[in-house]
Amino acid sequence: MPLKAVVDGETVIAPDLSDEEWAGLQLRHKKGLTVTMACCGAPGHLRTSGKGTRHFYHAPDSGCRYAEESKEHLEIKYKIYQTCQSENWETSVEFPSPDRAWISDVYAVRDGRKVVFEVQVSAITPEELEERDRKYRVLGIESYWLLDNFLGKSRDFTAWYDSFLAGEDGRSPASVPYIDPSLFSTGPENHIFIPRGIRSVGLSAKSRTLFTTNNPSLSLPVWVREVLKGNYQRYLEAGADAFHRKRQLVTLAAPALIRFREFYETIIRHGTYQERAGRAERRFRAGPSRDDPALQKMVRTLSAEIDWVGKEYRSYVSESSGLFTWKKVAAQDRPLLYFRLEPASNVKKIQDGVATMDRWEASFEDALRTLERGSSPGNG
Ligand SMILES: [Zn+2]
Repeated sequence: MPLKAVVDGETVIAPDLSDEEWAGLQLRHKKGLTVTMACCGAPGHLRTSGKGTRHFYHAPDSGCRYAEESKEHLEIKYKIYQTCQSENWETSVEFPSPDRAWISDVYAVRDGRKVVFEVQVSAITPEELEERDRKYRVLGIESYWLLDNFLGKSRDFTAWYDSFLAGEDGRSPASVPYIDPSLFSTGPENHIFIPRGIRSVGLSAKSRTLFTTNNPSLSLPVWVREVLKGNYQRYLEAGADAFHRKRQLVTLAAPALIRFREFYETIIRHGTYQERAGRAERRFRAGPSRDDPALQKMVRTLSAEIDWVGKEYRSYVSESSGLFTWKKVAAQDRPLLYFRLEPASNVKKIQDGVATMDRWEASFEDALRTLERGSSPGNG
């Protein structure tokens, strides 16, 4: 339902008229004055909404898509318009694009900044949103989409985020061992902004309130003012920056964490080193070099070293190391071990730790090979 129409060749914004002007216009319209809808040129009429908002409406069968706009849409659009005006922005409603391909709900300009607000009560597909947003982008207009109940409506927006989350390596953080997936769980405005740079906010059209991931109920005028001050853009960017920082740390830490996970398997879960050392020792004791004092010493050291690497592993996963934390997760009997991505210096620490254990493992393999040689017949 439009706020705007053309009367006597002049554009009129209904709520901007004084009571007298509105009454006068109604009277003249009754006497036959033509009111033309600004959107499509169809004939229109005057009306006041239940909330007292003056507006125009299309004569029946206009076929105009703006005739279908809900009363919630009207009230929200009007509130945004009012707020922008009260902040001294040069404000237009139902503002057509240069090629008239689309009409934006509210368009506000100040000090060279151009901002557009789009109220989307009906569902919008991700493709349509992206296409329409692109049109503003090429004109250097900052667009803000108020999307009604977009939490529930579009899983596709989450799909944008999920595929972005997987990153260029195609590896999702959830597939990296010890990464807490909740680090990357976030809300719809981030699902849309982080992968596509499209600014949006959740809209509860019925209550005319907004919501974001961190704020379940945000007043419309308060939010509009935050947009105009640039704060909402900064909020979105801060979220994206935090995302990118975490994502980068995961990529950086992934090889060390994957390797660390292998150490868990070999040291804790399967006792692989113990078993292999035991086997080598038995063969050595049955072999020709069993009396070699240097090799005997090596056998003793091996066992101590395996204890050492076990302790080393445990010291890393203890809470006091600051590298890992145990977290109780719903639907899991036991707490899960997660790597603390931050501070960023933790990544260096786990890389160093893994490098130390790698070096130890290489020396362990060397020692086993030496023992093997000592166990072979004809050697010694
Ligand atoms: Zn129309």
